[in-house]
Amino acid sequence: TFRILHSSKDLALSLVDMAQYVGFIDDTLAVIGQTRAVHDAPGAPALACTGGRIAFRGVGFGYGHGHGRRALRRVDLVVPACQKVGIVGPSGAGKSTLIHLLQRLHDVTEGEILIDGQPIAGVTQDSLRAALAVVPQEISLLHRSVMDNIRFARPSATEAEVQAAARAAHCDHFIQALPEGYDTIVGERGAKLSGGQRQRIGIARAFLKDAPIIIFDEATSALDTESEVAVHRALTRLLRDRTVVAVAHRLSTLADFDRILVVDEGRIVEDGTPAELRRRDGAFARMWRLQADGLANDDVVGAA
Ligand code: ATP
Repeated sequence: TFRILHSSKDLALSLVDMAQYVGFIDDTLAVIGQTRAVHDAPGAPALACTGGRIAFRGVGFGYGHGHGRRALRRVDLVVPACQKVGIVGPSGAGKSTLIHLLQRLHDVTEGEILIDGQPIAGVTQDSLRAALAVVPQEISLLHRSVMDNIRFARPSATEAEVQAAARAAHCDHFIQALPEGYDTIVGERGAKLSGGQRQRIGIARAFLKDAPIIIFDEATSALDTESEVAVHRALTRLLRDRTVVAVAHRLSTLADFDRILVVDEGRIVEDGTPAELRRRDGAFARMWRLQADGLANDDVVGAA
């Protein structure tokens, strides 16, 4: 964006470019708000992420000055390294709050969150971000080439590394079919990508980042069956051998998980393997029946 502007057309393009960056930052809007509130402690060390074990100890959180109503209350949780945890629950239950706190987009009001035994509030934010790859619900694309869009996750990556990440995320095929392949400009005014293609770009970014912990916020919008299958395959491979905390809406996603947490009113109300929770006649079993019967759409949260 810092190029010399020769004409008003250039200026307009640059503004659009910048708007795209802002769009990308939208994904982490809370980060912007919190760069003022969340600080590195003086002399904070870098996080030494050895395996990706996550622990919440008595975590409470409320938004706003008086901390208002608690969005999370006394959450205790240990996620061993490489476990895949799916979070479900009704709208407003606290699912997003939980994954935002893990990214330290806000500081907890009570308790602490640790990664590999180190409180995340005590390590540098850069090192924390480096340990986490976030696949958000909505993938924002910059008005840049597909290559640049994937490389955004690790600017030092070579073209070969970007292409390897794209192949792992089942993107390579559709990217090759774009008019200029990896050089095709995407984003608002560029080539239009489908919802499933955008999601796979998000997954490719996470592959490129190669972080030990994945935070996945599954999109609620339904995809056509073919895209659904492609995204599912890409995701299954990404999640292998990493610690995963995912807000998940689809049974097809949850079926592969080691563990499900049902969150309601800021608390974990059910915790077990998908099979255990299906046997228990609770909220998850009800969600499962509704989806399996096709009575609900594919949004577990909506069915809750
Ligand atoms: P959904 O499935 O609808 O995304 P959720 O389970 O992710 O819901 P959260 O977004 O974590 O729920 O919200 C938990 C509670 O915190 C809700 O009562 C919500 O209204 C409140 N909340 C969320 N974000 C904010 C915010 N930025 N400011 C104030 N309150 C908020």
